[in-house]
Amino acid sequence: MNTVVTGATKGIGKAIAVAFAQEGYNLFLCARTQKDLETLQLELFEAYPSIEIHIKAVDMSVKQEVIAFAGLIRATWSHVHILVNNAGVWLPDALLEKKEEGILEKLIETNLYSAYYLTQNLLPSIVPHQTGHIFNICSVASLQYYPNSASYSISKFALLGYTKALREELKPHNVKVTAVLPGATRTDAWKGVEVPDNRLMQAEDVAKTLVAIVGLGDSAVVEEILMRPQLGDL
Ligand code: NAP
Repeated sequence: MNTVVTGATKGIGKAIAVAFAQEGYNLFLCARTQKDLETLQLELFEAYPSIEIHIKAVDMSVKQEVIAFAGLIRATWSHVHILVNNAGVWLPDALLEKKEEGILEKLIETNLYSAYYLTQNLLPSIVPHQTGHIFNICSVASLQYYPNSASYSISKFALLGYTKALREELKPHNVKVTAVLPGATRTDAWKGVEVPDNRLMQAEDVAKTLVAIVGLGDSAVVEEILMRPQLGDL
């Protein structure tokens, strides 16, 4: 199965890439940092020598780079079976506080337009085959506001909205669409924040969920999956 994962060198994206590699799926991975991509490619090649692993340094917040990335994937694979739109960032802001300019724009570009333009440009490699699965990594912040996360929440609500539109339009084409809504998960996004381990989910648990969802029969789809730390939100 040809699988694309964005933001694949760390955190949830890396866990998903590793989990699909374990299943024997071919990978096309991106992130901004070339060196991290090369390190991951080597790590995966050593552990899973029989799969294809392609890498490309891409800033997913830049539309032209995303479109070029989609072109490269399409030139490599005529059929994309699984697309995981994971690349995303969190930046703090509150509506009533004086803030740095451009946070909303940055988060919309990185968390929404990244998934939108990659998916739209890969649909010709998915829809005609009448099979495939698109995962958008949304957030619990796609459903409710969290303090100091106004623009992040706006971007993740929008990503969930896009996911719902995709789900409806791709339904008759037999292409599955799943919104994944994780709560707090131990990744670099939490670096420097003192939180006991039992208050955060592990990225590997999010990845296992995707593998399980892909394993369902043809007539079932998980439209949305909401995951939280066992003890709830922080
Ligand atoms: P992370 O550990 O910070 O890793 C982010 C990954 O995305 C890295 O590989 C990073 O590599 C890449 N990346 C960041 N900006 C990029 C860009 N503009 N273009 C391409 N790649 C980019 O993040 P994470 O916590 O795993 O989060 C992954 C996704 O899950 C995000 O969409 C996030 O919003 C969502 N999420 C996370 C949590 C959580 O608690 N961790 C909760 C809910 C939802 P480079 O820096 O080299 O580009």
